Amino acid sequence: MQRGTNLGRLGDFNQAVIFESIRRAVDGVSRVELAGSTGLSPQTISNVVRRLLDDGLVREDRTIVSGPGKPRTVLELEANRMVSIGIHLDPGVITVVMLNLRGETLHSRRLDVPPVEVPAKTLETMAATVEEIIKESGMPRANVIGVGVATPGPIDRDRGVMIDPPLLDGWTDVDVVEPLRRMLNLEVVLEKDTIAASIAELWKGNDAARDNFILMYVGAGIGAGMVLGGEIHRGVSNNAGEIGHYSTGVVAQPCDCGRNDCLHASLSFNNVARKARAAGLTLTVPDDGNPEERAEGMRQIVKMADAGDERAVTLMRDCMEKVGQVAGQLCNALDVSLVIFGGPLWSHVGSYCLDGVREVINERFSSKNVHGIEVRSSTLGHEVGAIGGACAVMDATLSPKAAALLLR
Ligand SMILES: [Zn+2]
Repeated sequence: MQRGTNLGRLGDFNQAVIFESIRRAVDGVSRVELAGSTGLSPQTISNVVRRLLDDGLVREDRTIVSGPGKPRTVLELEANRMVSIGIHLDPGVITVVMLNLRGETLHSRRLDVPPVEVPAKTLETMAATVEEIIKESGMPRANVIGVGVATPGPIDRDRGVMIDPPLLDGWTDVDVVEPLRRMLNLEVVLEKDTIAASIAELWKGNDAARDNFILMYVGAGIGAGMVLGGEIHRGVSNNAGEIGHYSTGVVAQPCDCGRNDCLHASLSFNNVARKARAAGLTLTVPDDGNPEERAEGMRQIVKMADAGDERAVTLMRDCMEKVGQVAGQLCNALDVSLVIFGGPLWSHVGSYCLDGVREVINERFSSKNVHGIEVRSSTLGHEVGAIGGACAVMDATLSPKAAALLLR
């Protein structure tokens, strides 16, 4: 059963629907337009708008004249009335962002090469960075509705605990939410990074095509986020999207799952590094290094590709096309028509890998005679995980959900 959330005060479904319409109206919207778009009565609109004005979430400071009749007052979002903070913990980097109601990033910090082997210290660093950002923003603390932490799975979302992320040594059974809540005195939620990234796409996107899509998250690890019928698919334990051990159809190297042809085996740094050396590229880190060394090794290959080294470009294209093979299988299972690629690694390689990946996915898709698959890069860049964490807080607080009606 879906659990309720105690975050925020916008529990009323109609209020959430109206607020979402105002939030998405870039140029403001009138009460009459709201009645038209939401199907709610003018009286309901009027009551809810009154409450939103009282709460300072909406302002009315200009009118529009269109056609005969009296001018209409425009309602506009007070975008900085509520902000949320997102933290993304990735094996190579920690990113912290502050987002306003419109989904605009107001502040961001990037902490390269964190001391990931000492979780308690890292959590303290995260809390200190959040405090710095709040201070720097000049935002009243009361405007900060919460902190969303996006981490690699698997997680226990209800308890706020990371279980055993494969690429983060020392982070087994680490309680993330409780210590941060204690240090910051703010609401904190934990979300798997791939799910957070798809919440970011859903929250920030505007087009209807986004009701059904797959987000392929390409960072130190690979995962998928799935949005079906306009809702995030979470699975029974909030860990949906584990695609690391899907077969690519090509033998790579033995994997801890016992097979040798899975995506994880293909994209493991030591496999990529071995191929890089075989192609004549020189890396300054060992094939089997620690997370920082593995991240540094990938950076070196990406850098060589950026500098135009065809061997590095070919290697990265080959890696991403393996991800495309798996994305194509997901498209077959879910019958979506849009795949969005994003994540820290993709933001570096997407520009020259996208075309090849699009081709692989569409070739793999069985119903190609019915419809094609649009494949594109996320516009959210390397911060997509952190933005997702912040959006997860906004989403839990503000979004109208069909499920919310069942709770009452
Ligand atoms: Zn495997």
